[in-house]
Amino acid sequence: MAASELSPAFSYACGTISAKLSRGERVLLHNVSFSLSSGERLAVIGETGSGKTMLALSILGLLPANVRMRDGCVQLDGAALPAGKQLQSLRGDRIVYIPQSGAEFLLPTRAVRKQLYDSLKKLGLPRKEFPALAAEKLHLAGFDAPEMVLDKYPFQLSGGMAQRVTIALAACSRARLLIADEPTNGLDEAGRAQFFALLDSIFPDAAKLIITHDISVAARCGRVLVLCGGQTLETGASADVLSTPRHPYTKALLAAQVANGMQPSPVLREGVSVCPFYARCPEADAACLNGAMQKHTDGTTEWWCCHA
Ligand code: SF4
Repeated sequence: MAASELSPAFSYACGTISAKLSRGERVLLHNVSFSLSSGERLAVIGETGSGKTMLALSILGLLPANVRMRDGCVQLDGAALPAGKQLQSLRGDRIVYIPQSGAEFLLPTRAVRKQLYDSLKKLGLPRKEFPALAAEKLHLAGFDAPEMVLDKYPFQLSGGMAQRVTIALAACSRARLLIADEPTNGLDEAGRAQFFALLDSIFPDAAKLIITHDISVAARCGRVLVLCGGQTLETGASADVLSTPRHPYTKALLAAQVANGMQPSPVLREGVSVCPFYARCPEADAACLNGAMQKHTDGTTEWWCCHA
């Protein structure tokens, strides 16, 4: 049995997430499920529009007004996530979001000090402790001289500094789940390594959901989940899936990453299939038009395809 099944810190099963449109309803995510144990990293990969961001928003309770989840079950430490204001109170505390762009995420009109104090206030800590704690969190996030940063505004920070400030803000929490959306965009290999070292040192016990286009980032996670058209098409240990992909979509995704920066493959055929990759799959045949997606496993990796 996998560690994640023994003691999941976080589990997610979305049922169906759909958007109400003027011309009907569109399914955005369907039957995506996974669990994460304490400290574990799961990378979610897929093209733009595959459902990665919608998955994150559904956990954070930030789905757009016309989008809803049906038959979902999301649990943190064995308890169902609440909705509304109760979920809002968990954001920034038990559930922490690390954005793609620190510079865009930070409030432009508030100095770093005030943003840190806002986060510390949310934890109910005594105000007299804020100055020392704010400096400590910045130090944890890699600032050797926190006093040089505290009174700066976001526009005065470089991209890397802004990202580290968002990590310092995230450190003002009791995070059990971290959701990071393309967190290392624009960073070089050394920057990516530093980012993950910081995450592990500041949040050793938090489950970590890493949304990424970057295969080198996915390779730094223990497991990977491949999304296409709102469905899970393959999941397993990153070392296995990224080196020996079993699903045609994962193969195409990894090949495109090398050849053309993960641009969508050209449309190959018309028709309606239960498989979201049918139009572009090089292995598609008539059976894919009529068959049902079946789950396959080799003991470690799982994938879904009409064919064996
Ligand atoms: S079901 Fe058919 S179209 Fe879809 S991935 Fe499998 S072979 Fe390709």
